[in-house]
Amino acid sequence: MNYKDIIDKQRKYFQNGNTLCLNKRIDILKQIKEELLNRYDDIVDAFKKDFNKCEFDVISTEISMILFEINYLIKNIKKYHRRKKVKSNLINFPSKNYIYKKPYGVTLIISPWNYPLQLAILPLVDAIAGGNTVILKPSEYSLNVSNVIKDIFSKFDENLITVILGDKDVSSALLLEKFDLIFYTGSTSVGRIVMEKASKHLTPVVLELGGKSPCIITKDADLEIAVKRVVWGKFLNAGQTCVAPDFVLIEESIKEKFIKKAINKIKEFYYDNDQLSSEFTSIINELHVKRLINLIDKEKIAFGGKIINKTIEPTIMDNVEFSDPVMQEEIFGPIMPIISYKELDNVIDILKTKEKPLALYIFSNNKKDIEKVLSNLSFGGGCINDVIMHLTNESLPFGGVGSSGMGRYHGKYSLDTFTKELPIFKKGKLELNVKYPKYTNKKLNLLKRILKIKNNKQ
Ligand code: NAD
Repeated sequence: MNYKDIIDKQRKYFQNGNTLCLNKRIDILKQIKEELLNRYDDIVDAFKKDFNKCEFDVISTEISMILFEINYLIKNIKKYHRRKKVKSNLINFPSKNYIYKKPYGVTLIISPWNYPLQLAILPLVDAIAGGNTVILKPSEYSLNVSNVIKDIFSKFDENLITVILGDKDVSSALLLEKFDLIFYTGSTSVGRIVMEKASKHLTPVVLELGGKSPCIITKDADLEIAVKRVVWGKFLNAGQTCVAPDFVLIEESIKEKFIKKAINKIKEFYYDNDQLSSEFTSIINELHVKRLINLIDKEKIAFGGKIINKTIEPTIMDNVEFSDPVMQEEIFGPIMPIISYKELDNVIDILKTKEKPLALYIFSNNKKDIEKVLSNLSFGGGCINDVIMHLTNESLPFGGVGSSGMGRYHGKYSLDTFTKELPIFKKGKLELNVKYPKYTNKKLNLLKRILKIKNNKQ
């Protein structure tokens, strides 16, 4: 396929001003919402086929996020795009100064398989709301969902939205072309490739990447609450969540209690009479199953560890050390390593030596400990006494830092990401005339007086 043709067509469509009308953008957002809801049954079916994701999770972690974002955009798009008047300054007196919001143009969105609907359509609606055109490349791993996405958007003008299916070769070919913005969600290693290719055209990139997100539990944490929330967050989507608590760092005196309670909670949430629930999400493919098996040290299993076809039981690993294989990469599966600690300061020192994660969680009722962790460590975002939920509030910017990514989105921050602030300075007839040559002593002295520069020669 010749991608350049479709990119050129989208660019022409954009340059002819076809994306500028805000009412039209709102209509398109409403149409996307309608099409999505029309295809609800097909979406639920596709998730079941791709990785046995149950209907409740499809609604709560995929569809609801998209609907909330579309509703936010529809409600706020006009206010957001209003020209904003800003102050002038002494040098420019008198003048008027404005910030306009301008779309970038043709955007490329590349999305992963773990939340294959949400992570494709959320940035897509954001790009449309910002006045851009979109070429979307969903993941090849979640093929059934990707096919539904392709079907949904085949009803839209391809000059505005085109979905291109395919694997990494298709992504690579697309990345050779010139875009005006690239929004990539996926692994850190591929994020590096995307950025390198974007640099050829100096295309700005948003990289939503991953990492090993720690979950610290101090000795005065409410253990019941910590257990319930950490177990939920770890095993949601079978751990295939970019902001899942990757590993637990717990104060040594409460570790045994935590593990006991966590095992009970896992049984309560995911088992019926010692049988793993048929609703438990499976691993996306054999490749990832094999990768995860290699991370499990059988000697350290405190619970779980069984593999049934592509489903891995919720698994707890005890007495884990930072040097273990499970601590060398983002787990992205239903394995919860537990590392105990004596001193919080040591934990902070160790985490400082690691790559900056996408998220960090702390369960504690000690304000000083919480403050110490927040002020000493760098990470994309996080929660105090909860996990994952920070990304469900559209008032909070969502994104990574360092190797977990760059840029942010959700709510207003999506519009910030998909528009460029255009500063405009408007001058009338009046002006001070100081800047124009000849540069007389009078002008020079005036400048020096304003800037409080001492005249040493005098
Ligand atoms: P991935 O990087 O393998 O693939 C993501 C996309 O990139 C796919 O569409 C794929 O076709 C494409 N791709 C793969 N290799 C490529 C290459 N060499 N050149 C160009 N394109 C290529 O990621 P994944 O396995 O689908 O997703 C898992 C990762 O994504 C995890 O690290 C996870 O933490 C991260 N993630 C981050 C977020 C976030 O919001 N920050 C959300 C979900 C997942």
